[in-house]
Amino acid sequence: MTVPLGNVIDALQARYDPALAEPWDAVGLVCGDPSEPVGRVLFAVDPTTAVVDEVVAGGVDLLVTHHPLFLAPVHGVPADDPKGRLVHRLVRAGAALFVAHTNADRAPGTGVNAALADVLGLAGAVPLEPAPGVEGAGLGRVGELPAPLTLAEFAALAARVLPATAGGVRMAGDPERIVRRVAVCGGSGGSLLAAAAAAGADVLLTSDLKHHPASDALEVEGPALCDVAHFASEWPWLPVAAEALRADLGGAVEVAVSRLRTDPWTRSVGHAADVAGEPPLHG
Ligand SMILES: [Zn+2]
Repeated sequence: MTVPLGNVIDALQARYDPALAEPWDAVGLVCGDPSEPVGRVLFAVDPTTAVVDEVVAGGVDLLVTHHPLFLAPVHGVPADDPKGRLVHRLVRAGAALFVAHTNADRAPGTGVNAALADVLGLAGAVPLEPAPGVEGAGLGRVGELPAPLTLAEFAALAARVLPATAGGVRMAGDPERIVRRVAVCGGSGGSLLAAAAAAGADVLLTSDLKHHPASDALEVEGPALCDVAHFASEWPWLPVAAEALRADLGGAVEVAVSRLRTDPWTRSVGHAADVAGEPPLHG
């Protein structure tokens, strides 16, 4: 069975309203003909070359990614440009590309942050920064673990339920600290630290946390921190969005989630499981 691309886009936009996107964002259809049929849809975090290889090899008609291929304005898509080449390859393969980025972050129910809260088992999760006008929409989530954990146990839970990455899960704060109220933000959520503190969170799990804000956060009362790979924090959305689309279209399209790890960090060395406390720094 197939569904016209235009109808698939309508279904996606009913869940991931483009009006929820940041003004600087670039969401929606990147390439593809809304009148052409779609039978197979693949979901991925990033529109990388390896993911496009998977699209071409798998006869995929529509690739849905979280991250935009183009964020800055472009004036052409020549095939000798790295991103232009991907557009050419997709068009030649008859595959469309659709992006749901900050609108998917903010979406209620089946959005990126809702999926991250769900995979960690948070109950009663609500947006950390509610979006005006749409019930249950907004950035980040804060909710309760079913039972209290130490910070170290919570980090281990995150490592278990999120895709494994080279960077793993880093924590800042006393590993024995008891955490129950958890704030999360998929992607770069350092800007929500104050909101997490105001919401009474014991820990904020996000990615791309920088040295100075993390260091400053440990000097004051407030949440402990868990820093995970950006890719890992957003990945839980993929199976949720894929199943939602399949159900919304009454099973008329096949959906799949890319198994590729598109985290750009692929290896790390020099780990120590616990480096709190005194030097020596080496040996
Ligand atoms: Zn992201």
